[in-house]
Amino acid sequence: TKTVATLTSEELTNIRNRWTSIRYEQPIDYRWLWPYTIAGLLIFLAMFIWNRRLNALNQALRRANTTIELLTVTDELTGLSNRRVMQREWHRALRDMRFLHLVLMDIDHFKQYNDTYGHPAGDVVLKQLGTLLRHHMRRAGDYAFRLGGEEFAVLLTELEQQAACRLAEEIRKDVEQLAIPHASSVTAPVVTLSLGLLSVVPRIAQHRASLPPDWNSIYQHADALLYQAKNSGRNCVVARCWRVDPLLDSA
Ligand code: GH3
Ligand code: MG
Ligand code: MG
Repeated sequence: TKTVATLTSEELTNIRNRWTSIRYEQPIDYRWLWPYTIAGLLIFLAMFIWNRRLNALNQALRRANTTIELLTVTDELTGLSNRRVMQREWHRALRDMRFLHLVLMDIDHFKQYNDTYGHPAGDVVLKQLGTLLRHHMRRAGDYAFRLGGEEFAVLLTELEQQAACRLAEEIRKDVEQLAIPHASSVTAPVVTLSLGLLSVVPRIAQHRASLPPDWNSIYQHADALLYQAKNSGRNCVVARCWRVDPLLDSA
């Protein structure tokens, strides 16, 4: 090896430069990393928040779906089952050749009741009516529904026509006997109910190659009877038996 003294000045400069360059490389500057770190953290934070929001939305959606599911089975205010059951039972009664009675009901002068006593008081009446109807549903084939607003329906599939008529009349009388004051009603001093009862005998359809009456025409028929009850002084039942062969007889 050479001693330092024997080195040429050029060699010395070379060596010094090498050292010098090493010395300049040594303090690595990490400052350029900061923006990337911050950007990374921000992205992570955004993803975290987004994920939480998504989870919350998913939960809300699940809750909403459960509510819809419940609403299609029971009415929120009165707890009565809904019209999907009604259609299902109609088809079942038709298939089994059973009697089917559809009672459509509507509270008399209910708008005036709300105007006189307030909407919350009206809600109480709806609940009372719901409870009363539930009490009258004693057999397996009895169903009570709230159709919307102050309109209710009862479906009976285990009764003869006379018994169904008696039941409709009992409901009417019991509502009157609840004796809920209704000062602005011109029908009675208390809350009353109008009812249309359509009894369907699906027997005849068996003997003819005709289509059984669809649920909509059954419903429209019962509705027409309710309308008649409204027009004949309210607080009454208008009943009719429909022998269902829509081609032969429609009344
Ligand atoms: P009618 O004897 O001819 O049946 O007259 P009405 O006033 O009962 O009939 P109308 O259809 O004119 O009014 C129905 C009223 O029912 C109007 C509305 O304010 C009330 N109503 C509907 N749904 C509800 C409810 O959920 N709660 C309360 N409190 N009132 C309701
Ligand atoms: Mg109405
Ligand atoms: Mg009404």
